[in-house]
Amino acid sequence: MHPLRRIGEHNLYKFFLMLMNSFSSFPMREELMQAISDLGFETPTPIQLKVIPQLLAEPIDIIGLAQTGTGKTAAYGLPLLHHVDVSVKHVQCLVLSPTRELCMQIQEEMSKYGTHMRGLRVCAVYGGVPISGQIREVKAHPQVIVATPGRLIDLLERKAISLEHLQYVVLDEADEMLNMGFREDIDLILKNTPAREHTWLFSATMSNEVRGIAKRFMKDWKEFSVAAANSTNENIDHQYYVANHHNRFETLRRLLDFTPGIYGIIFTRTKQDAQEVSEKLMKMGYPTSPLHGDMDQKMRSKVMERFKSKALQCIVATDVAARGIDVNDITHVINYELPDDPEVYTHRSGRTARAGKSGICMSIVSPKQISNIRQIERLVKQKFHKSDIPDGAEIVRKKMFFYMEQIATAAPQADFAKLYKDSIHDQFAEVDKDELIRKLIWLQLKDTIEIYQHTEDLNAGYDRKEGPDRRSGNRFVRLFINLGEKDGLNEQKLLQFIIESTDVEANTIERMTVRDMSSFFNVPGDAAEYIIEHLSNKKFKGRKVRLEEAEQRSFGGGGGESRGSGRAKPQGARFSGDVRSYGGGRDRDGGGSGGGGYKGKRK
Ligand code: AMP
Repeated sequence: MHPLRRIGEHNLYKFFLMLMNSFSSFPMREELMQAISDLGFETPTPIQLKVIPQLLAEPIDIIGLAQTGTGKTAAYGLPLLHHVDVSVKHVQCLVLSPTRELCMQIQEEMSKYGTHMRGLRVCAVYGGVPISGQIREVKAHPQVIVATPGRLIDLLERKAISLEHLQYVVLDEADEMLNMGFREDIDLILKNTPAREHTWLFSATMSNEVRGIAKRFMKDWKEFSVAAANSTNENIDHQYYVANHHNRFETLRRLLDFTPGIYGIIFTRTKQDAQEVSEKLMKMGYPTSPLHGDMDQKMRSKVMERFKSKALQCIVATDVAARGIDVNDITHVINYELPDDPEVYTHRSGRTARAGKSGICMSIVSPKQISNIRQIERLVKQKFHKSDIPDGAEIVRKKMFFYMEQIATAAPQADFAKLYKDSIHDQFAEVDKDELIRKLIWLQLKDTIEIYQHTEDLNAGYDRKEGPDRRSGNRFVRLFINLGEKDGLNEQKLLQFIIESTDVEANTIERMTVRDMSSFFNVPGDAAEYIIEHLSNKKFKGRKVRLEEAEQRSFGGGGGESRGSGRAKPQGARFSGDVRSYGGGRDRDGGGSGGGGYKGKRK
C-alpha cells in the first residue's frame, strides 16, 4: 500500500503540514542537511521557519526580532553558509556580536553547521586575548568572520583584514551592541563594506536606535519576529520569596541549601554584588564563582569551562556577562534582586527550561517589590507562586532526602567493590544496617544541622497585604495533600491537577508549597469542603490522593509545613542533633511518625 494511504485521509493534511514545517522542506545544500541531521535537529524553531525559507530563496535585508535560545544562530547561519562559495578565499560573510563569549558560541555553532563543507573556514576575533594569533587566523582566508566590533576595527586599522569583498553582514544582538556603546564602531564597519549586498539584523528588542541602524544601512527590509524565548515558556515555574533587604543573602543561602542538586545562575544587578555574593558563598564552601565584566576574558573563560564541566554548581552573574552563557541544562535561575526592566526578567528566566526541559526561576523580593512581580506576571502571562523561605528543619529534611537518594542510586565501580568488599564487611559486620545508614547520613548533614541550629523566620510582610484572613472576610483554609516533588510535581503541575480534578478556578488556590512528599495550599473557607471531597477520591499515578485540613503545627515538627496560616512561629528552635527528629520518619502517605509527624486533622 502506498505510504500515504496508510496515513489516512484525515491525517493527510497534518502530514503535509509536518513536511512543510520540517528541515527537509528547505532547499538547502546537502552538506548542511547532513549537519542538521548529525546534530539531531528535528524541527525548525519558529524563527527558523520564518527566516530560513526567505533567506535561501532571496537573501534580502531582514530584521529578526528574537532572543538567544530561539535558534536564531541557525536562522541566519544556515542561509549564510548556503550562500558561501568555499572555492573563493576571501571574507564573504561577517557576523558582528557584542561579546567574546557570544562570538565563540556563534563560531562553534557555524562550524558545526559547516562541518561537511570542505574548505570552509569560520574564524572568530574578539578582544581580551593577544591579537597576533587572530591576525594569523584571518590571514588564512576564512570565508566567514565572527567578530566583536572593537577587535574587528583594530584588525582593520592594522590592515590585517579586508572587508572589500564582503557580501553579507549579520548584526547579532544589535540592541546589546548598542547598549554596550558600539554604535560608532558599527557605523564605521558598515561604511567600510563597499560590496555589501545584504544586512541581516537580529535583536531581542526593537528600539529607536536599532531602527536607526536599519534606516542608515539597510534597504527595503522585512521584519520577522517571534515571541521572546521562554517568555511564555510553561515549563518554567516562577517562584518568589519575600524577604527584607538585610535578609537577602541569608535567604539566598537557604534557597541554595534547599535545592542541593541545583545547577544554576544567580543574577545580581551590579558587578560588585556579583563579586561580593559569590565571595561570601565561596567562603562558605559553595562551589560558585562570579562572572562579570570586571573580570578579564581569561578568567571568564575559565569560569565558563568550570561551570560547563559542572565543577561549579552556580555562577553569580550580571546580566551582560551572562548573555554569552549557552548551557541547556540549567535547573534554576535565582534573581538575587529583580531587574528594573521586566523584559530583563524574561532574558534571565529564559536561561532555564531550554530545549524542552523544565526549570525554576526564583526571585528574592522585598515586600515593596511585590508589585513588580505582578507587572512581570502580566508580561510572561503566567502566575508566580509565592513560596515560603524554608526554615532549618525543612532544609535539613530536604538535604537528607537528597543524600538518601544519592546513596540509593550510587553505583560503585566493580573494581571498588572487589577491592574493598571484605574490609568494609569486616569493619561493619557487627553494626546494625539502619544504624550505619543513619551514621552515613549524619556525617553528610552535621554541618548543615549546626548552621541551622538557630533559625529565624525570614519571610517578610506575610500578614500585611497578602494574608489570607484579610481577604473579603472569607477565611482561608490551609490544606495538606499527600503529593509532592517525589511524585513528579511542582507547583504548576499540582495546580493543574487540582484544577482538572475539581473544576475550580486557578485563583481559588493560593500560597502553594510543594515539599518532597506532600504539599500545602490555601483555599477560601467556603471552598475547602468541596475541594477535599472532590480530590480525596482521585488517584494520581495510581496512588490514592489524601487531602486534609492542615493545622498550624509547632516548629520543627515532622519536616512538613511549619508556616502557612501567616502566624509567626517560635524562633530559635534548636536541632537535637538526631536526624530522626527532623521528621525523616514521615511515610509517603503523610502520616506522622517518630518525633515529628504531621499533625493534620483527620476528616
Ligand atoms: P541560539 O538561539 O541560536 O543561541 O540557539 C540555542 C540552542 O538551540 C543552540 O544550542 C542550538 O544548537 C539549538 N538549536 C537551534 N536550532 C535548533 C533546532 N531546530 N532544533 C533543536 N535545537 C536547535
